[in-house]
Amino acid sequence: MKCRHCHTELNHVFLDLGYAPPSNAYLSKEALCAPETTFPLKLYVCDQCWLVQTEDYSEADELFSGDYAYFSSTSQGWLQHAARYTESITKRLGLNEKSFVIEVASNDGYLLKNFVAAGIPCLGVEPTDSTADAAEKIGVPVLRKFFGVTTATALAEDDKRADLVCGNNVYAHVPDINDFTQGLRIALKDGGTVNLEFPHLMRLIEQNQFDTVYHEHFSYLSLTSVSSIFSEAGLRVFDIEELPTHGGSLRIYGCHINDARATMPSVNEMLQREKAFGLQDLKVYLGFQPKANKVKNDFLAFLIEQKRAGRSVAAYGAAAKGNTLMNYAGIKHDLIDFVCDAAPSKQGKFMPGSHIPILAPSELAKRKPDWVIVLPWNIAEEVTQQQQQVRSWGGKFVIAVPELKVLV
Ligand SMILES: [Zn+2]
Repeated sequence: MKCRHCHTELNHVFLDLGYAPPSNAYLSKEALCAPETTFPLKLYVCDQCWLVQTEDYSEADELFSGDYAYFSSTSQGWLQHAARYTESITKRLGLNEKSFVIEVASNDGYLLKNFVAAGIPCLGVEPTDSTADAAEKIGVPVLRKFFGVTTATALAEDDKRADLVCGNNVYAHVPDINDFTQGLRIALKDGGTVNLEFPHLMRLIEQNQFDTVYHEHFSYLSLTSVSSIFSEAGLRVFDIEELPTHGGSLRIYGCHINDARATMPSVNEMLQREKAFGLQDLKVYLGFQPKANKVKNDFLAFLIEQKRAGRSVAAYGAAAKGNTLMNYAGIKHDLIDFVCDAAPSKQGKFMPGSHIPILAPSELAKRKPDWVIVLPWNIAEEVTQQQQQVRSWGGKFVIAVPELKVLV
């Protein structure tokens, strides 16, 4: 396999998590009786551009295109993040009723609704019908397409280049990252700004976040690799911010390569920090697997200990992270009784691979488990606050990543 960005032969495995079904392949009761398809879940690192990437499959685009309907608006924290972002970027770029904003992967309109409310013209690009429907219902215009050179060229020909092209949490999920990035350049007005947010590979390694790895998440990005991808596409990163979202993300500010704006010191500082951390050294990448294994083994030991002591264990958050963790650890229904999730579309279904049933959060009060594992550790605070009732029967919350920890 060759690097998706620079086409160098990939010889170094960063992480091998065995086999797993697509993380969003939730199963109905009937489907439990049928065979389930799994795929190797393996990441390689490119020793030239340092892009960490999933192993390739011939039908990857089809299988892992993420057509599962995840509605961004179900997370309060994410909604607040989007509102704050709109306010700050509007001020920074001086956006007004004469500006034009494009959001790539606009989902259910969770972000663009803020621009609509502020009277700033905008357009979402979103291929998933159910989320696009939801966005249009609240007055957010949507173009139902995948984003890349083809879509961006059509927008440019239609005189719809934007002052701001943003994508929060889409960049890592794009199969063809070069085509997507060239699309950003094409869809951008002269003097316009690109904003992308993505989980930071440096944090992933530092915080043992191996459970953020899944097939639909094609790239694991650092500023080092993104700078190279941008530059080849005719773009330049001119500023960055560090964000606490998704366990530690980077928000990058990009412009056309010959834009008059100077590159801020923040960019060089982060490149230096990444270098000092070892992101241009194979050793750091090759040392990650043993760290992931320790987290997995500690979690498994905890579950077995609870089982032997006769305590009941439930989990909260039937999302991709949980699926990766359960599947790598080989956890089944015998160790975790059920998983709660607020999304009605998942309730009554079963987790892919582990086949643990997904129930409504109201089941916690009925079944009163001794332990609740918070699978999406990045929103652990939000979850423990919402589900405080668990403490009323002596139940405790625990997280597995970055290390096994009881939440007090
Ligand atoms: Zn490469």
